[in-house]
Amino acid sequence: MQKILKQPIDLKSVLVLTLTPIAAVIFIPYYAISYGFSAADWFWFSFFMIATGVSITAGYHRLWAHRAYKAKAPLKIFFMLFGAAALQNSIIKWSSDHRKHHRFVDDKEMDPYAATKGFWYSHFTWMLRHLPKKVAQVENVSDLENDKIVAFQHKYYVLLAIFMCVILPILIGASYGSIGGCLLLAGLLRLVLNHHFTFFINSLAHIWGKQKFSDENTARDNPILSLVTYGEGYHNYHHKYAGDYRNGVKWYDFDPSKWLIYGASKIGWAYDLKTIPKPAIEAARASMQLKEAQSRIKDKRYIKLVVDFEKRLEDQYKVLFDSIKEWAKAKQAWLQAKKDKLSATQILQLKEHYKSLKQKFKTERKLWRTLSNSSVKVAKLKVA
Ligand SMILES: [Zn+2]
Ligand SMILES: [Zn+2]
Repeated sequence: MQKILKQPIDLKSVLVLTLTPIAAVIFIPYYAISYGFSAADWFWFSFFMIATGVSITAGYHRLWAHRAYKAKAPLKIFFMLFGAAALQNSIIKWSSDHRKHHRFVDDKEMDPYAATKGFWYSHFTWMLRHLPKKVAQVENVSDLENDKIVAFQHKYYVLLAIFMCVILPILIGASYGSIGGCLLLAGLLRLVLNHHFTFFINSLAHIWGKQKFSDENTARDNPILSLVTYGEGYHNYHHKYAGDYRNGVKWYDFDPSKWLIYGASKIGWAYDLKTIPKPAIEAARASMQLKEAQSRIKDKRYIKLVVDFEKRLEDQYKVLFDSIKEWAKAKQAWLQAKKDKLSATQILQLKEHYKSLKQKFKTERKLWRTLSNSSVKVAKLKVA
């Protein structure tokens, strides 16, 4: 931490990351009150929001940083342009940082945005100072440097970023007579929100959620975070299997980037989608379940729970068995009384007794079923 703090301030980053939210907080309410935003302004805000978001997740992240699939030129150009609108650096610089994040995850020296250095560091403050040269150095990206579209973006990054963030919203706004509205929503508000939603993946996704597939690092699976990160909330799975084009591996996991890539593959714009074989995923999951169960059993509260449960289960079994025996005995006595032609009152009494014992058995059987069904949970806890 000390070494990072001694690094010089990155003035460009400080200005972008502080002035844009301040400007958004001042100008957007002012404009809303003075002029009001139109439906078209909100439409272009939504379009830019999604286009920029998926260009970072499905483009920068999964296509380029991890090479989880291949894409044809139209899709690459779209991701390249709207990725520049995100103001998160060029594809080459972003991927170099991100590959280091995976390679040295949580390492306080080498992970550019190590979550082990705290929420604010991984979310935001790591960008306010220049990183040490060994971390900042662009390396391990020669594959990307050889990609013409990626190299073009790197060369003209500043111009492209200005065009996509400022000029394009102005042109679109001018086309329907709302330059200010479109610039403020599709340009400014979209930029600030996209920044912080993306930053959550480095901060919250390493703090808040479940470690379903691995506890080798701080990455967490968090479906709630996926809602604003286009599917990147399944970060524990992602750190375990970064080469998979999916982050939310189950079909129902909310991962729009996965659906977009899959959809693009159906029209031939994406191909060679990489997936991890199911047995490997299941093995990783089972191994984490075992660890979870073992740690619960080591927890004194759960040891007591298991012991108490076993005793309750045994006791109820005995009660149930006794009730079966009593019920059978009573039934036998009633049948015998009928056979022996005892008085009608005696037969009736024995029949009532048998019926009440049958009812008692049914009650005990219900209790037993509830208890033995819940043993599945406890057995999982104990054996898993
Ligand atoms: Zn991460
Ligand atoms: Zn990644």
